[in-house]
Amino acid sequence: SGHVVFDNVTFNYDPRQTALKGISFSIPAGATVALVGPSGSGKSTILRLLFRFYDPTSGNIYIDGQNIRELQQNSLRRNIGVVPQDTVLFNDTIEYNIRYGDVDASHETVVNAAKAAQIHDSIMNFPDGYETRVGERGLRLSGGEKQRLAIARTIVKNPPIILLDEATSALDTTTERHIQDALNAMTKGRTTLVIAHRLSTIMKADVILVVRDGEIVETGTHDELIRNA
Ligand code: ADP
Ligand code: ADP
Repeated sequence: SGHVVFDNVTFNYDPRQTALKGISFSIPAGATVALVGPSGSGKSTILRLLFRFYDPTSGNIYIDGQNIRELQQNSLRRNIGVVPQDTVLFNDTIEYNIRYGDVDASHETVVNAAKAAQIHDSIMNFPDGYETRVGERGLRLSGGEKQRLAIARTIVKNPPIILLDEATSALDTTTERHIQDALNAMTKGRTTLVIAHRLSTIMKADVILVVRDGEIVETGTHDELIRNA
C-alpha cells in the first residue's frame, strides 16, 4: 500500500497568490519521488497537502484510490511519517524520543520497546547510549544526530508513506554516511516524497519532479533529466 496520486491539485494560501497551479502526478507504492526546485516554488506545500495540513483549493489527492478528504485525519496521519528539516525533541531520553517522539501518532500506536531499542542500535548507536537524556546532552546533539533521531522515530511508527524535508546543512563524510544508511533503512519499501537537497538522494530517486512557480516543469530520472538538459 501507499500508492499516491495528485490529480490536478491547486492551492492558494490567499486569493491573490496561487502556490500550486494544477499539479498531477502518481507515485507507485514503495517508490521514491524527489521534489527539487527553487525556494518558494511549492515543494513544502505539496507535502503539507498530502498530510492534510491544508486541503487543496481544487483537485484531489488519493492514497490507494481513496480520496484523502474522506479519511479520518488520525488514520491518515498514522499512515504517514514526517521527517522535517528542523526536528523538535522532547527534553527526555533518546528512548522516549524514539518511542513517543512522533507527536502526530496517537497513543494507541506507542511502539514496542524492543523494536525501538533495535532501531536505536542499528541506526543511532550514540556513544552515550539509549537512556541518555537529550536535555542533558542539550546542544551537544549535532544536526546529524538530531536527523537520525527523527529518522529513528519515523521508522518505529512503520508508516507506508514518508514525507522528508532533507536538511540543507553540509555534513562531514562520516555523518553523511550514517544519515544515508538511516535514510535507506527508512525509505526501503515505503512510498517516499522527499524535498531533496543531497545529490545522492536525487540520484537514487525513482522519479524527480522539478517544481517551479507552482508547477511541475520536468519529470524523469536523474539520467533522463541530464540527457534532456
Ligand atoms: P523553505 O524554503 O524551506 O520552504 P521558507 O523560508 O520558504 O522555507 O518557509 C519557511 C516557513 O515560512 C514555512 O513553514 C512556510 O510555511 C512559511 N512561509 C513561507 N512563505 C510564507 C509567506 N509568504 N507567508 C507566511 N508564511 C510563509
Ligand atoms: P518551497 O517549499 O518550494 O520553498 P513553499 O511550498 O513553502 O515552497 O511555498 C510556495 C509558495 O507559497 C511561496 O510563494 C510561499 O511564499 C508561499 N507560502 C508558503 N507557505 C505559506 C504560508 N503559510 N502562508 C502564505 N504563503 C505561503
